[in-house]
Amino acid sequence: MGNELNIPVLDLPRVVIIGGGFAGLKLAKGLDSNLYQTVLIDKNNYHTFQPLMYQVASSGLEPDSIAYPLRKIFKGKKRFHFRMAEVQKVNEATKTLETSIGTISYNILVMATGADSNFFGMENVQKHSLPMKNLVESLDLRSRILKNFEKALNTNDLHEQEALMSFVIVGGGPTGIELAGALAELKKQILPKDYPDLDIRKMQIHLVEAADRLLANMSKTASEKTENFLKKMDVNVWLNTQVKDYDGKEVVTSRHVFNSRTLVWAAGVKGVPVDGLNATMARGNRVVTNEFNAVIDKDSIYSIGDVAQIKSEKNPNGHPMLASVAGQQGLQLAENLNALARKQPMIPFRYSDRGTMATIGRNLAVVDLPFMSFGGLLAWFTWMFVHLMLLVDFRSRLVVFVNWAWSYINFDKGTRLIVRNKD
Ligand SMILES: Cc1cc2nc3c(=O)[nH]c(=O)nc-3n(C[C@H](O)[C@H](O)[C@H](O)COP(=O)(O)OP(=O)(O)OC[C@H]3O[C@@H](n4cnc5c(N)ncnc54)[C@H](O)[C@@H]3O)c2cc1C
Repeated sequence: MGNELNIPVLDLPRVVIIGGGFAGLKLAKGLDSNLYQTVLIDKNNYHTFQPLMYQVASSGLEPDSIAYPLRKIFKGKKRFHFRMAEVQKVNEATKTLETSIGTISYNILVMATGADSNFFGMENVQKHSLPMKNLVESLDLRSRILKNFEKALNTNDLHEQEALMSFVIVGGGPTGIELAGALAELKKQILPKDYPDLDIRKMQIHLVEAADRLLANMSKTASEKTENFLKKMDVNVWLNTQVKDYDGKEVVTSRHVFNSRTLVWAAGVKGVPVDGLNATMARGNRVVTNEFNAVIDKDSIYSIGDVAQIKSEKNPNGHPMLASVAGQQGLQLAENLNALARKQPMIPFRYSDRGTMATIGRNLAVVDLPFMSFGGLLAWFTWMFVHLMLLVDFRSRLVVFVNWAWSYINFDKGTRLIVRNKD
């Protein structure tokens, strides 16, 4: 092991973590600096709080309040090194990683690279739709939405105006319903004031879902409440409907063709493991691990979060791709690696499901707890409280809270800037 990437070689095993998301962050925080040298590599210099990305896309929050610099999070942590780089390849034989800034050796490797959009092989849809899996994509989406209205103002072609003011969101999971609700609020409260020369009533929001209900991972009560809330907010909900094709102008589905310039893809995700790891894979391109997060048949390689799937008889389909699962896995693996160094037994991962929730809009949310389900105002307060507390630090919580309070009192959203060149 050399002095690679200007990282000193110590008389301690080196743990290299790829990915500073929910899983990698908890792991890096939890590793004992007296037992390991920790190297965290991420292609971005920040951690993203993805559950609130739809608010960036819909002009509710600025990106800085949901992203946090990784170097700041680890300020003062001993024997810790962050490198901003893309990891391109794992070489198992030499126990090294090839990255965009050079090669680095590891004693223990943890892959926590998360997931990306899955277009299920539909190339046209991939080319023309807008996904929302990272901060840049959510800013692209925000710019596209606002630009559409600027363009709609300047055209006399009614067909083109309809296309610019129609938004088709594919995927009735939390991301899809939250974005649909946020667009409905823009339509009702913001856009008529911003565009007095445009008849905003022409704006159409379509939510398309292949299954027979929204929020398929939540209770039936939550699904029904969500559908009712959205319909009341003037969102067109299309269940049992599959997207087949999109050329940037017409969204072809199994039931209808939509004339729309904007197709938001929130319908599927797949794991993004780094090349070179010849591992057993599960559905959704996820790396199969045992209950200790160790990649099957690999030496000193672990995988956690969205990119990994624990295979057990009790849980044949693995855990859902959720921030709470990723965070708990990161925490548990840190404890287990610390135990390994101390020659103590490791504990198998058990997911503690504390509930699921989604918000639809002002005063409207649904919450499923292990023992009860509820919706409406109380659920909305619960959703806001939980999401505020999950943000990385006090500053982010304060900024988000002030933004929300301001929007609530003034029926306003503060960040309607077109900052990207996305046509
Ligand atoms: C829009 C949206 C809304 C969501 N809402 C919720 C919600 O309400 N509740 C919930 O529980 N979950 C939600 N999720 C899911 C949740 O965000 C994920 O489950 C969680 O982020 C998974 O954590 P992770 O650490 O596995 O991956 P991520 O948080 O995605 O982190 C992966 C990290 O790896 C880095 N990376 C990837 N490849 C490389 C590479 N080759 N080299 C270097 N770095 C790399 C990335 O830059 C990233 O920082 C949402 C997701 C999205 C996209």
